[in-house]
Amino acid sequence: MPALSFRQGAFPRYACPDHVRPTVLPLHFPPSVDPAPAQASSSPCVRACRIGVDGLCGGCLRSRDEIARWSRMDEGERRRMMDGELADRERERFAFLACLPERARLRAALYPLRQPPAGEGWNRSELEDLFPPAAVPAEAAVLVGLVPRGDAGTQVLLTRRTDALRHHGGQVSFPGGRVEAHDAGVLAAALRESGEEIALDAAQVAPLGYLDPLLTVSGFRVTPVVAAIDPAYVPRPDPGEVADVFEVPFGFLMAAANLRQIEVEYNGRPRSLLEYDWPGQRIWGATAAILYNLRRRLEEGA
Ligand code: SF4
Repeated sequence: MPALSFRQGAFPRYACPDHVRPTVLPLHFPPSVDPAPAQASSSPCVRACRIGVDGLCGGCLRSRDEIARWSRMDEGERRRMMDGELADRERERFAFLACLPERARLRAALYPLRQPPAGEGWNRSELEDLFPPAAVPAEAAVLVGLVPRGDAGTQVLLTRRTDALRHHGGQVSFPGGRVEAHDAGVLAAALRESGEEIALDAAQVAPLGYLDPLLTVSGFRVTPVVAAIDPAYVPRPDPGEVADVFEVPFGFLMAAANLRQIEVEYNGRPRSLLEYDWPGQRIWGATAAILYNLRRRLEEGA
């Protein structure tokens, strides 16, 4: 897929008279080529280790015995198992995935699950003055959950954080948070955080791939995980973290006309932010930027 680049004027813009030095977001994304070397042996590992009651790992869908035998299998056996038994298990476990019309386009547009993307964050240059070159951001992950709703179309699952939270209190966001030392990786962290915040069971999440990492002003490097969510899921938000759980049509969020670029003053200089016009909830900042990144990847992959 060719590299994406930002075209100035792609958004309707607010003209803020206070800002004489507007910036343009560095919206440039590297191609989502599969970073796995061509010679690498096949592996279904996505680092979301969690052996379930059925005895299978929630990430790779193998039993403990199959995981132990993997290193003794030749490449042909591995491929046969991945294309056969493991693919069957995925279809059985995530039957709702077949109801997501965008699944093939999404998989083609996203980074593959077996290796999360590297990089400092596609918006790093926009925040240069906030982070010295040597600063190492904390790792975080969010879940961009897509719920297939049949005739109502695909919906995006969003939360509004409680006002009292230290980071991004009161803001609309995706479920997610810091990657802890005990997490197997960013996917495991996104699933764990979604379970803690809104009682989303990992068995109701079919991960599809990654978007580009994004840097936040709070000092996190956020890796978004895009996933299909079982439409039978019923949100139970943790009131200490989440004030509201709601859905917004995917089609609305992927329409260029609904996204605008605004300029705000932060830390002594004007900065460009993205914002959606959506009644009742303000969807902006990092959440809007992640959705914009998704839209551009889909557009480039079309
Ligand atoms: S690390 Fe986890 S996801 Fe990967 S193979 Fe082992 S159990 Fe499966």
